[in-house]
Amino acid sequence: MAGRNFIGGQWRDAAGGATDDVVDPATGQVIDQVASSDATDVDAAVSAAARAFDTWSRTTPRERSEKLLALADAVEANLDELKRLEMVNVGKPVSIIDFEFDLTVDNLRFFAGAARTMQAQAAGEYLEDHTSMLRRDPLGVCVGIAPWNYPLNMAVWKLGPALATGNTFILKPSELTPLTALKLAEISADIFPEGVFNVVTGQGETAGDALVRHPQVAMVSITGDVHTGKLIARNAADTLKRVHLELGGKAPVVVFDDADVEALVGTLAEASYYNSGQDCTAPCRVIAGPGVYVRVVGDLAAAVGDLVAGDPSDAATAVGPVVSADQQQRVAGMVARAVEAGAEAVVGGNVLDRPGFFYAPTVVANPSQDAEIVQREVFGPVVSVQRFADEDQALAWANGVDYGLAASVWTQDVGRAMRMASRLMFGTVWVNDHIPIVSELPHGGFKQSGYGKDMSLYALEHYTELKHVMVKI
Ligand code: NAD
Repeated sequence: MAGRNFIGGQWRDAAGGATDDVVDPATGQVIDQVASSDATDVDAAVSAAARAFDTWSRTTPRERSEKLLALADAVEANLDELKRLEMVNVGKPVSIIDFEFDLTVDNLRFFAGAARTMQAQAAGEYLEDHTSMLRRDPLGVCVGIAPWNYPLNMAVWKLGPALATGNTFILKPSELTPLTALKLAEISADIFPEGVFNVVTGQGETAGDALVRHPQVAMVSITGDVHTGKLIARNAADTLKRVHLELGGKAPVVVFDDADVEALVGTLAEASYYNSGQDCTAPCRVIAGPGVYVRVVGDLAAAVGDLVAGDPSDAATAVGPVVSADQQQRVAGMVARAVEAGAEAVVGGNVLDRPGFFYAPTVVANPSQDAEIVQREVFGPVVSVQRFADEDQALAWANGVDYGLAASVWTQDVGRAMRMASRLMFGTVWVNDHIPIVSELPHGGFKQSGYGKDMSLYALEHYTELKHVMVKI
């Protein structure tokens, strides 16, 4: 079904007839074409979703829950094809893909259950002769704008709470990775009434922007770059629609001298390079104590040197390509500038000499705190390691970036772990681990990593509005 938008239960070409190429990053070859939508297509999708809202918003939580459970089953029944599409479109190695899809199915089932749990303050007589009650009502047409690093999973993080709470939904996948969104539309077509779930593909500046500015869209939830998030917040301000921003990260990994270095290196060798490091929570910025720094650099470099980078379809491959030629150049440029500024690439530091967009798994030792490689998101298979002098400096460096999405602390000292956890300005803090996530618990940022929480019951709050109903008695 690739090539067409899914609007109001119908497959439609872009009104202007334009298409975008879809590329396999492991080969650089064009593998498909999809609709490159504009404001006309967006108008059609918003109209369809607005029409569907009238009925869908009045369904019971049980009905919505059953539909989401049916969607989870349908996704599960199509897992092989969905994984294949994500592999050829994002370059994800077969060796790592199961975790992400297990989470996607579980997220849908979680939100199916969450649909039935909305709670509020007890109804009662808070003012004499008046009974008050609180409702949490859906907003209307919600838009989810997804990034390319976890295309289907990020879509589900938005679709789940939006539909669970009675909104209708339009998904705009990344122009680089639209294939699983279209497959999701195909397998959901018999589940939801027409117009409840729509997919519009296309560029951010055209299709995305038209959705953000559309007066009938009540909310935009975006996962993407900080710059994109700021632009969307500005453009949404004209219609004062609600904005939910899951943006970039630059996760510090604070390693004290008493840390279990073997466990740390095992975690980093996997989690920092998972999905080619294209993960907003990736442990990419190690800040190690004076007694442990040399061992961390040496052991990490050895482990990273053993990682197999290459063909995503080969079961032995741990690290695939990055998503595009632009991304490959961005990663290469950032590492080159870090080395020019005095840091050392102790392993990797080069583009791989093969077709597609590969970059060698890399460790950069000893950059300064103000270096670009420490301050800016690389979004590639690159970890920096700095040496701190004491706990105050470790905390100052960890917090000393614009981002605030995720962090970890490695120590055997419970008091220190708790002290750090309370003072780190990040939406998730792991102690002696880094990366695990689960549907029941929230994911979202502090500072310029954005606002709003994905997953968990807290996500439901963003997709609903609190209403006070007061009755004179
Ligand atoms: P991106 O910002 O380039 O694009 C994200 C989406 O926004 C795409 O669908 C794009 O088409 C759309 N877009 C771009 N400009 C737009 C505009 N003007 N109006 C409306 N839509 C527009 O991000 P990306 O490169 O696809 O993804 C990588 C980024 O996402 C990284 O910064 C990463 O950290 C972040 N990310 C964050 C989380 C999180 O949960 N916080 C999760 C995954 C990825």
